Amino acid sequence: MTDFEIIIIGGGATGLGCAVEAASRGYKTLLLEAADYGKGTSSKSTKLVHGGIRYLANFDFALVKEGLEERYYFLKNAPHLASQQSYLIPLQGIVEKIKYWLGIKIYDQLAGSKKLAASRFLSKQQTLREAKDLNADKIDGGAIYYDGQFDDSRMLVSLLKTFEQLGGTALNYHKVEEFICDDGKISGVNVSNQLTGEKLNFTAKFVINATGTLSDKLLDLAEPQLKHNTVAAAQGTHLVFDKEVFDSEHAILVPQTSDGRVLFILPWHDKIVVGTTDVKVAEASLEPKAQAEEIDFILATLNQYSAKTVTKSEIKAVFCGQRPLVRPQNQTNTAKISRKHELMLSKNSLVTIVGGKWTIYRRMGQDTLDFIEKQFNLPTTKSVSHDLQLFGYTQDKLSYPLSAYGAQSSQVKLIQEELNNFALIHPDLPYLQAEIIYQVRYEQVKTIEDVLARRTRALFLNSQAAIEAAPIVAKLMAQELAYDEKWQEAQLSTFKLTASNFCL
Ligand SMILES: Cc1cc2nc3c(=O)[nH]c(=O)nc-3n(C[C@H](O)[C@H](O)[C@H](O)COP(=O)(O)OP(=O)(O)OC[C@H]3O[C@@H](n4cnc5c(N)ncnc54)[C@H](O)[C@@H]3O)c2cc1C
Repeated sequence: MTDFEIIIIGGGATGLGCAVEAASRGYKTLLLEAADYGKGTSSKSTKLVHGGIRYLANFDFALVKEGLEERYYFLKNAPHLASQQSYLIPLQGIVEKIKYWLGIKIYDQLAGSKKLAASRFLSKQQTLREAKDLNADKIDGGAIYYDGQFDDSRMLVSLLKTFEQLGGTALNYHKVEEFICDDGKISGVNVSNQLTGEKLNFTAKFVINATGTLSDKLLDLAEPQLKHNTVAAAQGTHLVFDKEVFDSEHAILVPQTSDGRVLFILPWHDKIVVGTTDVKVAEASLEPKAQAEEIDFILATLNQYSAKTVTKSEIKAVFCGQRPLVRPQNQTNTAKISRKHELMLSKNSLVTIVGGKWTIYRRMGQDTLDFIEKQFNLPTTKSVSHDLQLFGYTQDKLSYPLSAYGAQSSQVKLIQEELNNFALIHPDLPYLQAEIIYQVRYEQVKTIEDVLARRTRALFLNSQAAIEAAPIVAKLMAQELAYDEKWQEAQLSTFKLTASNFCL
């Protein structure tokens, strides 16, 4: 008898997408995450729910269509965390205008019945009326199209809670150290608890490697005789500012930076996030540090498009993540590497899923389960995730941060009353002290970093305020969990180290 039917390694978008798919099809499933859910790439995305208009330039129509289809299910099943967002593209010159006229019309067509709203073209005057902070010298027209936007790490929490409701088991801070093999086939994993040092093992019929940029490390563990090179990591950096720095209800897509990339300027949680992706990196890291020249490049590009001059001192936070791309044979420019996902089966039966993007997490889960059923001749089960409302689902429009809990927001209010505590964790952050207690009780919070980076988004919105809020968060957690002063001190010094990556 095995402990589980399926073990999933990795608690990012890919792993949790697989977990919800497996549990919703009736498989007894365990998910293991070495750090916290979203510690890797999945909390550091640009927060777009999109088909990927820029991938049209690579003529990747099937990929864009798949993204647009998944955008629809994403927005439909988690309306408390994801919503429609308009995107304005500032344009200059006739060639750019024709290119983007074609592009957004193809984008609308590919979405078919799942289109959000029709795109439209704007004169120079209309463009400047829609986004008054745009630099008039940089444009002679514009276009508006529609995609979605979301809170990535809160979406992981919603997937986690959905998975648990479906009967799944998920453990954060449990790292897979070794595979257990039986007759040449992987039949389980040896795991170490990263907080206590405890060693555990779990058995299962099937094991899925969903470890993003670290996939090759797990493949090397599974097949030490081979050297795996399946994933290329591309780094992206984002700068966060107060929203007054560039006030616009539309997100802005700068179509061509001086080095041929795109740059987004997005309203998010009452701030603006400015960033770009696709710097190739040699070494994969879960917590990469932004390169100084990339910060300068983003700021310089923002200043080309902004009517006001924005300075470095106005940056409230910096975050940086690495995209796991399926490594092609002969492509060195990561912007040109396809965002498609790929499934692999090693000789000893480890199933690996790599590539893709956040928007298509559901589809990646569905394809992985279909693949397992086909490869191992299992009876076919039907995917039901298209219509699965995720934990917290509500159509009520709540204001942030209570919107992050959706239908569960009433629980946070109950905790406020229970503790008679209506205070914020910091005057410059929107988060309530009662949220921390809710997160400890219901959201598998183990460290103050979990709270400040991924359950709230404090570290992403204002890194200095997050550092200043850390002592009160440590105190609230320690009271709820009956931890001592020593625990609080250790937490504060570890958090400071991580937080330094989010500061300039
Ligand atoms: C800068 C940037 C911007 C992006 N923007 C967007 C966007 O706007 N929209 C979009 O759709 N996509 C976007 N993407 C892509 C998307 O974020 C990624 O495709 C997705 O988050 C990858 O998720 P993952 O689960 O594969 O990897 P990860 O999130 O990295 O998860 C892998 C997990 O595996 C765990 N792990 C590793 N080894 C072990 C082990 N031995 N035991 C247990 N666990 C282990 C890690 O701790 C990690 O949490 C962006 C990517 C980047 C880099």
